[in-house]
Amino acid sequence: MEEIIKKLDKNLRVIGYRYEGDNLIIDIESTTNTGICPSCFKQSSRIHSRYIRQIKDLPIQEYKVILNLKTKIFFCKNKECKVKKFSEQFDFIETHSRMTKRLESQIIKTSKSMSARASKEVINNGLVKISDDTILRLLKKNNNKNK
Ligand SMILES: [Zn+2]
Repeated sequence: MEEIIKKLDKNLRVIGYRYEGDNLIIDIESTTNTGICPSCFKQSSRIHSRYIRQIKDLPIQEYKVILNLKTKIFFCKNKECKVKKFSEQFDFIETHSRMTKRLESQIIKTSKSMSARASKEVINNGLVKISDDTILRLLKKNNNKNK
């Protein structure tokens, strides 16, 4: 399990995991205690609080994977900065996304290789439960990127 998680980011560690129905829920957190303010780019190690982000990831065997990512909120210590608090950023998730980049690219790959109806089947049965809208949004985002 640790190995699969470390492929996302080597600074992640597994706190625990459990099976719920056809889901595998993995609790993870980063081992780094500093964050970079997205506004002034100064480093901070003063933690304000933590919260859980639910992120969908690639399935493991027949289980759909949900990552409960414990995310730190840091204070920005720079007095000139307009940001007081900011949350930890991760390279394997796009800002505001609810799934890992590697799951997104798998969905895009699947959708491109077959008809809309067939790909919806494959994605929902084998990869992750998501709506048509989400699939379309991902494809659109990907098309824009390649323009
Ligand atoms: Zn700042």
